[in-house]
Amino acid sequence: MGVRETAKALEEIGIREVYLTEKLRKEPAKAETFQKDRRRLLEEHFSSFKNCTKCELHRSRSQVVFGDGNPYSPIVFVGEAPGEEEDIQGRPFVGRAGRYLNSKIEEILGLKREEVYITNVCKCRPPGNRKPTPSEINACFPYLKRELDIIKPKVICCLGATAGEGILGKKFSITKVRGNFYPYPYDPKIKVLLTYHPAYILRNPSADKDFVEDLNKLKEFIG
Ligand code: SF4
Repeated sequence: MGVRETAKALEEIGIREVYLTEKLRKEPAKAETFQKDRRRLLEEHFSSFKNCTKCELHRSRSQVVFGDGNPYSPIVFVGEAPGEEEDIQGRPFVGRAGRYLNSKIEEILGLKREEVYITNVCKCRPPGNRKPTPSEINACFPYLKRELDIIKPKVICCLGATAGEGILGKKFSITKVRGNFYPYPYDPKIKVLLTYHPAYILRNPSADKDFVEDLNKLKEFIG
């Protein structure tokens, strides 16, 4: 059985992480094939909707903004939708809010941005950075679901109410539910942590301490 088939068989019985054997360490090409498996699946997934016109947001975007980061991370951060910078660069969370998020990931989780995975519930920029509508979120959700099916994280950290409502499929007040874990409806083994959107914290600096508290819960959860 090859490395890819072995990894698939292990995943089917619930083993998502293995330590590379001495033999694999001495065979970087095989080790790289193993590491690339989810990346390849994501690339195939992204190329399947790079020209998507399922909702009105395709009219205002420069490009579809796919998820970004380590597909083997136990943590996936999910935001609302790309903003202006993200639409230009084609990567999620690269503007001011993204820089704030990166600094907190490093400071609290002790991880670099590229060690976690970051994406959005809507993959195209809404005009004027407005919130995506429920129908736009519904149209785009299957793409996010497939992304999460490939990555199989331990925890999905929703940044803001729009992301949380997209993932959990119900409305709530983020100030009341932030810091709580909920089961991911499509796989209850995966937990969903709700917290504020970094852009909200930049507008309301007093929310920073709550965000730090939530990230500390996240850190404790992943161990
Ligand atoms: S937001 Fe999603 S569903 Fe709408 S056009 Fe973009 S990729 Fe397609």
